[in-house]
Amino acid sequence: MRQKRSKFRKIFVLFLAVLMTAGSLTACGGQSGWRSREVTVIDDNYRTWYEIFVYSFCDSDGDRVGDLQGVISKLDYIEDLGFNGIWLMPIMPSPSYHKYDVKDYREIEPEYGTMADFEELAAECDKRGIKLILDLVLNHTSSEHPWFTEACEYLESLDAGEEPSAEECPYYEYYHFVKGNPGSNTWYQVGSTDYYYEGVFWSGMPDVNFESQALRKEFEDIVDFWLEKGVGGFRLDAVKEFYSGATGKNVEVLTWLNDYVKSVNPDAYMVGEAWDSLGTYAQYYASGIDSFFDFEFAGPTGVVTKTLTFTGESNSAQAYAKALCRVQNAIREYREDAIDAPFFVNHDMARAAGYMQYDERKVKMAAPLNLLMSGSAFVYYGEEIGMTGSGKDENKRAPMYWSSDAQAEGMTQGPLDMEPQENQFPSAEKQRKDKDSIYSFYKDTILLRNQNPEIARGTVARLEEITDQDIAAISKTYDGKTIYLLINLSETEEKQVTMSAQQYGELEIAGYLSVDGGKVTMKNEVVTLPSYSVAVLR
Ligand code: CA
Repeated sequence: MRQKRSKFRKIFVLFLAVLMTAGSLTACGGQSGWRSREVTVIDDNYRTWYEIFVYSFCDSDGDRVGDLQGVISKLDYIEDLGFNGIWLMPIMPSPSYHKYDVKDYREIEPEYGTMADFEELAAECDKRGIKLILDLVLNHTSSEHPWFTEACEYLESLDAGEEPSAEECPYYEYYHFVKGNPGSNTWYQVGSTDYYYEGVFWSGMPDVNFESQALRKEFEDIVDFWLEKGVGGFRLDAVKEFYSGATGKNVEVLTWLNDYVKSVNPDAYMVGEAWDSLGTYAQYYASGIDSFFDFEFAGPTGVVTKTLTFTGESNSAQAYAKALCRVQNAIREYREDAIDAPFFVNHDMARAAGYMQYDERKVKMAAPLNLLMSGSAFVYYGEEIGMTGSGKDENKRAPMYWSSDAQAEGMTQGPLDMEPQENQFPSAEKQRKDKDSIYSFYKDTILLRNQNPEIARGTVARLEEITDQDIAAISKTYDGKTIYLLINLSETEEKQVTMSAQQYGELEIAGYLSVDGGKVTMKNEVVTLPSYSVAVLR
């Protein structure tokens, strides 16, 4: 299915921005020449995505709650960083601040704006070649959703001994209702009746019943509604819980959903959250869904954190390179054109800067370890400036740190139950002006990804003869071309790597990253890599 359309779209605006940046950097020795290379972004589903929690992102109207107009006002910021995809966390009406319990699947949360605002956002994204995907929460609805409230009212209206029927109340079969207390803590009583409903997360999130064909039809209509609004696909929440613990049945639901979405728009992008081990989430690719989040590499105990902060042989550059191949092989076993979805943290995880004890060099180095991976890569808003946030969920969803002035235009208040967050690194406003900031390092990393289509789309192989404790050496092959990535993960030492022309062909440095600003060079066949640097050779 992938690569049907190979429309090449040259981003001249970005290119100009790059030239301007390069111009401003020539004073530091002209080492930034690679940044002025042409950027050619392929319009497919191997993208670089920015995950936005609208509530905490940017406020446009002064009520200090983020909104869709706020997102529109920051599209320049997002585009300038090089992103060409946006995942919006739920934007449909909901009683909770996070909105993962939907009351109405065809409306916009009033705090966030109107349907007209959404249409404007979709059109603005389209203009910029940014694909917009929505968080689709299908495992459960809000207990305030009319389907649920009507079903409960119906059950409460039954006379003693009267059996419920879906013919009288179709919504009765949309959820898991049983008579008699199942005696487990995921079941809740309907009023004072003998009926109970399932809510795996909590009582406010009743689980839906995918056995109901009428419910599936509702979801098909909802998908149609949003695709018509210009949405480019969906992020699917909690797919493991459709039938908790039953991977095969979950794959069946996802197969139905994916087939339906692709029948309407073959280019739509679908990414699922199956929060589990690699061995389990890989199986979900059998559904045909393009991507599943790569939990193997993410979070405080994932491969990236281990590589940068743990010690010992198993957490070496060698282990990192092996893990790249392990994930690729595991997911391709279930689907040949599986698109990995690497990410470092999301809204359910503590911010990554904390994993690194706010060591700026490591916070920077984590960017290429995630963003130079093959697949469709995701960045949670604020990671590009090393934001702070851990502990309760609200803390992980803190206001985007645009400015150190909490009252500045666009700044939000954040979730009401959030504990005060002290950011350790400067605001976006300051970091954008600093070529050595975390922001600039992220921007350079995404630029490398955009300049070299093989980085996102390539099949990875490990160069065993080079890879060791400190150097991860890999090749990426796509569309008949092979490029090489050399990553120096030594915290202190410069390394030299010989890339013989006889073995690898005539290569030159197509671009590089270096956390301390030192130069990566190639002389004869020897590449010199400062501590914590990456070279792309082609
Ligand atoms: Ca607002």
